[in-house]
Amino acid sequence: MSNSSSTVPSIVNKLARAELVDMIPYESARRLHAGNGEFNNKTWLNANEAAGLGNYEISADCINRYPDFQPDSLINAYSEYSQQPKSNILATRGADEGIELIIRTFCKAYEDSILICPPTYGMYAISAENHGAGIVRVPLQSETGINELDINALKQQVGNAKVVFLCSPGNPTGNLLPHAQIKEVLELFKDTAMVVVDEAYIEFSADKSVASWLPQYDNLIVLRTLSKAFALAGLRCGFTLANSDVIAMLSKVIAPYPISAPVAEIASKALKGDNLTVMTERVKSTNTLAKELSTWLKAQQWCTQVFPTDANFVLFKTPHKAFVFEALLAENILIRDQSKQPQLADCLRISIGSKSELASLKQVIETAFSNLKS
Ligand SMILES: *Cc1c(COP(=O)(O)O)cnc(C)c1O
Repeated sequence: MSNSSSTVPSIVNKLARAELVDMIPYESARRLHAGNGEFNNKTWLNANEAAGLGNYEISADCINRYPDFQPDSLINAYSEYSQQPKSNILATRGADEGIELIIRTFCKAYEDSILICPPTYGMYAISAENHGAGIVRVPLQSETGINELDINALKQQVGNAKVVFLCSPGNPTGNLLPHAQIKEVLELFKDTAMVVVDEAYIEFSADKSVASWLPQYDNLIVLRTLSKAFALAGLRCGFTLANSDVIAMLSKVIAPYPISAPVAEIASKALKGDNLTVMTERVKSTNTLAKELSTWLKAQQWCTQVFPTDANFVLFKTPHKAFVFEALLAENILIRDQSKQPQLADCLRISIGSKSELASLKQVIETAFSNLKS
């Protein structure tokens, strides 16, 4: 153990990169509330996971061997699913690894910057900080109640960033970005920055992917994951889609054996046949439940705004944010507080769990407010 005297910095604080010493790591849903391998004791509506278990068997036949760099069965399966040629696909340890790889590949540490449009997914900024890349912020505009890009403000930043991150559908905002705006950004930055469109939730809005634009845009990168619609968050498997020269460059930076054999085996199965049908059915029922939850929230007096959603969660605003959050927590129902994000004061996010989980959530909130009155 350390014999920490407060005046002498520990060896780790002395030797680590100075900016990491005070850095706050990403507060992932699971760091805030650990599952400890025991997920039955709480209702998990805080990480946009899917409810319900998959049913997969794996063989450990070749577990003594290193896996292929990009296992063929997996890339073939994703190629068929995404309608992209195999040379346009890189499988990664979740979409999060894709984010990190893109920053490490295109941003020179302590020189180059990424551009983000907050409120947005937290890992873009965390990965940039980890790498020593700067962060340019161009906030989303939400005058119409729907989040859109601020194109005029983005124009002013051309040349100031090497990578632009767009999240569509947005997390935590929920809605798809207008395709015309994404095109404008690709054009604006076509000689100066890679434009990443994070499509972690794209399955919930079928036919809205921009991956089919890859032949027209050299600077487009699309991120995908099996963590959300495919109900495989624990697997850690994502995909980066881009033209083959981009994929070749990212492949120089990624670890030599990024996809473990069991991951490749399960992911390949998830992308085919009956499992694909199960995914599509899950998306349909999730979309129905999201609509029902939005309608319910809109009818509540204590709820002042419900954001439109094209994903598996609903963001809403309430002056009773802490009361709602704590009432649910007391009943072991976890949702996500988004109020620290710019423009999202008093906002909470509910992931679409199962029908019964959402029914209990409504019940707990209704009871809490009626106890308050009586
Ligand atoms: C969940 C999420 C990710 C990360 O996905 P993983 O594949 O689980 O790493 C990336 N981007 C957004 C917007 C997300 O919500």
